[in-house]
Amino acid sequence: MSRELANPIGDLFDAAVRHRTIKASCQCGNVGIFDPHALWFLFERKGWSDKLPAVRKRMRCLQCYYAKRKRSLAMLELTSEDHTRQLPMPDIIEWKRQLRRRR
Ligand SMILES: [Zn+2]
Repeated sequence: MSRELANPIGDLFDAAVRHRTIKASCQCGNVGIFDPHALWFLFERKGWSDKLPAVRKRMRCLQCYYAKRKRSLAMLELTSEDHTRQLPMPDIIEWKRQLRRRR
């Protein structure tokens, strides 16, 4: 059994530690790939849970929003593809502080 299966990624922080990008796909076909550090930092600043099921509920498709379509739950996948959406990155001091806190 691989380490990944034995110890599945449960939140954005895990995803960032393991360098997996977060791919969110909407039913309308809109796909965004996010850097896990940047996405974690966004959730951290907002005080939101970074558990993946909670993240999934927070994700909102802007194309559907502008088209006033009914909101649907995005699909979340962990990938090794490069991110396509630019969000602010956490500063390195804050990131290191969190790493120490969680280890
Ligand atoms: Zn959509």
